[in-house]
Amino acid sequence: MELFGRNRAELESFCKQLGHSSFRSKQIADWLYKRGARDFSEMTNLPGALREELAESSSITRAEIVKQSKSPDGTVKYLLKLGDGETVETVLLPYPDRVSVCVSSQIGCSAGCTFCATAESGLVRNLTAGEIVDQVLTLQEHSGKRVTHVVFMGMGEPLMNMPNVLKAIHLLNEEVGIAMRRLTISTVGITPAIGKLAEMDLQLTLAISLHAPDDALRQKLIPLASKFPLRDLIQACRNYADRTKRRITFEYLLIAGTNDSPTQAVKLAKLLKGILCHVNLIPYNEVHGKPYARPSRKVVAAFKEVLEREGVEVTQRMERGHSISGACGQLRRSERLA
Ligand code: SAH
Repeated sequence: MELFGRNRAELESFCKQLGHSSFRSKQIADWLYKRGARDFSEMTNLPGALREELAESSSITRAEIVKQSKSPDGTVKYLLKLGDGETVETVLLPYPDRVSVCVSSQIGCSAGCTFCATAESGLVRNLTAGEIVDQVLTLQEHSGKRVTHVVFMGMGEPLMNMPNVLKAIHLLNEEVGIAMRRLTISTVGITPAIGKLAEMDLQLTLAISLHAPDDALRQKLIPLASKFPLRDLIQACRNYADRTKRRITFEYLLIAGTNDSPTQAVKLAKLLKGILCHVNLIPYNEVHGKPYARPSRKVVAAFKEVLEREGVEVTQRMERGHSISGACGQLRRSERLA
């Protein structure tokens, strides 16, 4: 049995099954998620007999670093090889006051966003909870920096892999020790899943990739969004914010001549009126072979100004990792093309 990715309850019943006290599960969880043990022989506070039984019956599978590229601003993008040979991208973003890791939730993606490098491969498979947590621990161990924040903004659509993503969120919170508020799920907006998340009333941060103020343009940019019209999505977001009292982030990619006009900014402000939220503007990172370009700084500033004038809170994503193809799916893609 694979132990990495198991939660406390599963480890407890496994220990009992082997005829050992259930409190051993805490020790095993500490070795797996706090101390990064890769082998049962490292688990020196377990009885020898249990260590042997574990070695015979179970495995600890961890990712291997295949490649890394470092940007002058300190951002490091990793390509990790999983147990079955598939690869995922994970990014480390060190700031003076925090260390963020951007994790992938799937290999490939089914959302089909026309601007995104990951979309091309389609969905290969979901990542397990263990494979998600592993990305955080591997970067933490490799960089020697304690990770304080995790964002689900790598490859994949987290809300199309809910059970594994939720399990990973709980492991990161309860075992690795990262506060719920410092965990961010970014989604194209799977409306029913947002409803379920609201009911769970977790304190995590929800980010919605909006990218357009109307359905026609949004569905052109995000084909999967045609199943989830804006009206319902916005209502689900309103409910989420009301219920959890958490401010929602609306991510808005700015693409030259597509969604960056002052009129579209006004429309966006109207759409979000009255929701506890802020808008995060992301100037597009160009992807080779895609017919989209990044707008000029002037256009970005003008768009931001309109939103502010309309009373919307706005932040602009810092230009990090641009030089290392920091955008979703770009490293895995260049590796495959190489
Ligand atoms: N599927 C989820 C999470 C992965 S993408 C989602 O869509 O939210 C994380 C963010 O990166 C999304 O807002 C996505 O639209 C954005 N993104 C994808 N490709 C990009 C690119 N080339 N430049 C800038 N942002 C990009």
